[in-house]
Amino acid sequence: MPETIKIAYLYEDLMNTYGDSGDVKILSFLLKEQGYNTQVDNVSLDEDFNAFDYDFLFFGGGQDFEQSVVAKDISKHKETITDYIEADKPMLCICGGYQFLGKFYETSGGETIQCLDILPFHTVFKADSRMIGDTEYQTEWGNVKAFENHSGRTYFDNKEMLKPLGKMIEGYGNNPEDGVEGMRYKNVIGSYSHGPILKNENIARAIADKIIKSHKERVAEKA
Ligand code: GLN
Repeated sequence: MPETIKIAYLYEDLMNTYGDSGDVKILSFLLKEQGYNTQVDNVSLDEDFNAFDYDFLFFGGGQDFEQSVVAKDISKHKETITDYIEADKPMLCICGGYQFLGKFYETSGGETIQCLDILPFHTVFKADSRMIGDTEYQTEWGNVKAFENHSGRTYFDNKEMLKPLGKMIEGYGNNPEDGVEGMRYKNVIGSYSHGPILKNENIARAIADKIIKSHKERVAEKA
C-alpha cells in the first residue's frame, strides 16, 4: 500500500492565476514516480488549519482583489505557518502567495493589504510598468526558465536573513533594481515565476526530495 503525502494548497479556489496549480500536479507526478500517493487539500476561507498535518504547503498567485479577500482570513493561520517554516518544513509560494509571507502589499488602488509579516520583506505596486514576460535566472540547482506577470515590486528588509532564489539573466524578478528573483529562507521558496515554475525539472526534483524528507519526519513523529 503506497504511503500518502499530504499537501495543503492554500486558498486554491482564490489564488490560482496563470496555471500555478501545475506546480502541484508536477509534484504529484514526481512523488508518484517515487512510490507515493498524494492528497491535496484546498485550505480556503473559514477553515481550521494545522500546518503540521501536512508535508508541504503550496500558495499560488492571485489578483489584487482575491488577495484582499484572503488577507481578511489568513491572519488566523500566522502562528501555525510561522512554526511550520521555522521547523524547516518545505513551502513554495508563487507571486501573490509569495507576497503574503512579507509585511504588506501596497496595491494598485493605493490600498495596503496587510500580509502575514512572517518574513522581513515588503511589496509595493508601481502603476507605470507591469513586469511581464519571460524570465531566466541562475539558481543553486541550475538555470530556471519561467514567466512573470506582476505589478508588485518586492524588496528585502533583511538581506542577511533572506536569500534570493536566483540571479536574473532575463526579465525582472523581485523588482527592476536588484537583479534577483524570488526568496529563500530555510526550506521556503518564494518566486514570481509562473509557467509553472516546476516545469523546470531541476528545481521540481529538489522540492520533491524535500517533501519526501518532510513526510518521513511527520510519519516518524506520529509513530
Ligand atoms: N497581484 C499581484 C501583483 O500584481 C500578484 C500577481 C500574481 O500573483 N500574478 O503583483
